[in-house]
Amino acid sequence: MKKEEKNEAMEKLVSLCKRRGFVFQGSEIYGGLAGTWDYGPYGVALRNNIKNLWWKKFVTDREDMYGVDAAILMNQNVWKASGHVAGFADPLVDDLKTKKRYRADHLLEDMGIDPKGMRVQEMDKLIKEKGIKSPDGNPLGEVRQFNMMFKTNVGATQDENSVSYLRPETAQGMFVNFKNIIDTFHPTLPFGLAQVGKAFRNEIAPRDFIFRLRELEQMEIEYFVSPEGWKETFEHFRKEMLDWTKEIGLQSGHVHELEIAPGDLAHYSKRTIDFEFDFPFGKKELYGLAYRTDFDLKSHSLASNVDLSYYDEEKKNRFVPHCIEPSFGVDRTFLAILSDAYTEDTLGDEPRTYLKFAPAVAPVKIAVFPLLKNKPVLVEKAREVYHMLKKQIGAVEFDDNGNIGKRYRRQDEIGTPYCVTIDFDTVEKDAGVTVRDRDSGKQERVKIEDLVSYLKF
Ligand code: ATP
Repeated sequence: MKKEEKNEAMEKLVSLCKRRGFVFQGSEIYGGLAGTWDYGPYGVALRNNIKNLWWKKFVTDREDMYGVDAAILMNQNVWKASGHVAGFADPLVDDLKTKKRYRADHLLEDMGIDPKGMRVQEMDKLIKEKGIKSPDGNPLGEVRQFNMMFKTNVGATQDENSVSYLRPETAQGMFVNFKNIIDTFHPTLPFGLAQVGKAFRNEIAPRDFIFRLRELEQMEIEYFVSPEGWKETFEHFRKEMLDWTKEIGLQSGHVHELEIAPGDLAHYSKRTIDFEFDFPFGKKELYGLAYRTDFDLKSHSLASNVDLSYYDEEKKNRFVPHCIEPSFGVDRTFLAILSDAYTEDTLGDEPRTYLKFAPAVAPVKIAVFPLLKNKPVLVEKAREVYHMLKKQIGAVEFDDNGNIGKRYRRQDEIGTPYCVTIDFDTVEKDAGVTVRDRDSGKQERVKIEDLVSYLKF
């Protein structure tokens, strides 16, 4: 795709999200706040579907997972031990004229240079050597590290002791609860902790809609294994993560694995695979899978003076477990689903835009219509069917506004898999309804009593 086409594809997505109540600009009436977006009713429904499906697959359907919901604010020592205070930073560079700030690695990428594994000094040297300018065409300053954690003070005193941070990842909330889970549930290895929650990163240049946010949500697992068991578990989650992308309807050709080269690994990782996705603006990280070794439990043990080892009853052996971390961003999942679902076609000679959501993630599963709004007998029957479906399926909408064609278009645009119309035959003849399929536009007559089993989710 050419750059203009990529921009156009994103513009269409952003505009549909706003028009149909999926995503709004954060603090919009005040001109917005960069890196924040608010989710509207259909957006909330889609996010909840993503999170609930994830929780079901990775927690409820398994016997070896323990859910936690840790506080966003944590003792500052957590972030010292984890390495975030010293090293959770991105390379920053200033436009010397406009004072706008950019990610140095992104500017290099835009020039076709791969910045992976480069140190700040190397980036600085390259920018100077190649005479790279800011996107506004101005000279750039020195590249330096910028810590991305949002710093705050807890309580009424503003000194070094009251410093805390909005968590930049959910992971640490699980490491600090490792002992609580061991002491209360006595799990045997291997087992995992799972958490879904907000994280905050003061990104230098938030961009690409909800791809790079300052307030984001993650779904993460810290899975603990014996030091010998990591490879097998890594492979297990590698497959599970790919299966997950299929279950939420992402096209397998759009998901790619990227093995991170040893020199580019984060300080805690011995092996990482990034799962990349073909977003409209390019191939970018969707999820990560990392082998974190025993780095985190060891660091926290050392810093807190609390023993975070595990005793293997069978082997009579005490050791610090190693950890595999599958990490998923909710917002990037949302964007990947949307961009894969966005479809333009022609149906019955009319152009249309629709979201080809997998039924499991669709915010609305069924829309119920009375054929005519001003015929009480139809409206009454439609309401009855609507309540019956709502009780059994949940995400069902009632719509009697405008003609049927318009209602179909509206539902197509929010990705509703099925529309159900109640007409005169329903009440007078066959107790059947017309079920219309979103993708093909095909219509079938189905008995009301068979509806729930007919509609597959
Ligand atoms: P990137 O290289 O794109 O900044 P990262 O490698 O820093 O991402 P991780 O620290 O591995 O990301 O975070 C785990 C997951 O959280 C990512 O795979 C992504 O889905 C999500 N995520 C991370 N940063 C952001 C962000 N700024 N906005 C939205 N989602 C994010």
